[in-house]
Amino acid sequence: MAKYFGTNGIRGTFETLTPQLALKAAQAIGVYFKRGKILVGRDHRLTSPTLHKAVLSGLESVGCEVVDLGMVSTPTAEFMVEELHPDGLIIITASHNPPDWNALKVIDGKGVAVSKERGEEIEKLIDGGIGLAPWDKAGFTTDYCGATQEHIEAILKEVNVEKLKQKKLKVVLDCANSVPALIGPELFERMGCDVILLNEGIDGRFPGRPSEPREENIQKLLETVKESNADFGVAWDGDGDRVVMADEKGNFVIGDRVFALSALLKLKEKKGALVTTVATSKVVEDVANRFGQGVIYTPVGAPYLSEEAAKGKCAMAGEEVGGVIWPEVSLAKDGFLTAAKIAEALGEKPMGAWLEEFPFYYNVKGKVPCEFGKMQAKIETILIPEDAEKVIRVDGVRINFKDSWVIFRPSGTEPVIRVFAESTDEKKANELVKEYEGKLGKE
Ligand code: MG
Repeated sequence: MAKYFGTNGIRGTFETLTPQLALKAAQAIGVYFKRGKILVGRDHRLTSPTLHKAVLSGLESVGCEVVDLGMVSTPTAEFMVEELHPDGLIIITASHNPPDWNALKVIDGKGVAVSKERGEEIEKLIDGGIGLAPWDKAGFTTDYCGATQEHIEAILKEVNVEKLKQKKLKVVLDCANSVPALIGPELFERMGCDVILLNEGIDGRFPGRPSEPREENIQKLLETVKESNADFGVAWDGDGDRVVMADEKGNFVIGDRVFALSALLKLKEKKGALVTTVATSKVVEDVANRFGQGVIYTPVGAPYLSEEAAKGKCAMAGEEVGGVIWPEVSLAKDGFLTAAKIAEALGEKPMGAWLEEFPFYYNVKGKVPCEFGKMQAKIETILIPEDAEKVIRVDGVRINFKDSWVIFRPSGTEPVIRVFAESTDEKKANELVKEYEGKLGKE
């Protein structure tokens, strides 16, 4: 089992991901990327400047040429991999985690996030001792200040700005007191939108709302959309790779419906499979079926999506929490490009009307306590019912029925088996979760 790497990088509170560990990890990552050219970006968390210095020092000490992007959103840093052709990228951000958390996200030179499995090679280097560069071959850092602007220009090229300007959409943007404030407001203003801002002041304590854009955390956005008669609302997570929305009535639009709408827009222009995790709504399969395309399922975790997207065979990749990869622009989830493309579609018809194009599913989440190391064996005891239409075993077991499905999979972070069900019928979704929690031994 990975010692430091989680689903997406090395993550922990300041007591766990210390500056000492950040320095050692950066040295190991520098060696893993052949002591080459490494980009570094960071968010605004209170511990980010300290960890950032440790990361720069670690990379330099093993002889890397470091390009420091400064404070940027995660999609901006990842977009710069396409532009600057480094050997690797480290982003210091804990995304949607609480303020006392931080993480090192690691991306390779192709723009693919390093998974837990690939991270084990880096872990061996961390624990095995790392050779410093000779004193006269130590690396150096140069600052690169234009990343956010370049990212904005690249997104604007992907939408019909002139047409959007005529529509003059009204939008409410919830920037999470975080790095989305560096890019979201300017992007939407340049698309000719009338912009109302929430939580636009950058503050590492996240005073406005928790950084995870769950429905209960973005009530202010939903209310403001309604009160101001806006066309839609946008809320990013702490580092801007994920996005959820509000429709014109102020109804919450959950992440997998943001992905489904993005996929619908993409498949109208370009055919290809959709890549998504096994925990994503069936609505994504419905969209793919409508265009005669398939769905490729991956384990849960952004790195697996970018690995699959890098093969160049899919039209789009995305995850259930509102992270969407537009492969022509980068192999990273980009909450800003996603929001801009959806804004473009709203010039045609309102979001509510777009969302009526696919069915609504109720989803229910549950969990069953189980010790680490015993989860897989327990999951394998579950018999597959006769009315199952399809069984997918890439991460736990997902069983698809006609209008519903259930998945049970080991959690990577807690000693629990997660159970998740979805159905067009709310009662059925609840029953499925209860049934499988029972079968997995919940008392
Ligand atoms: Mg994120």
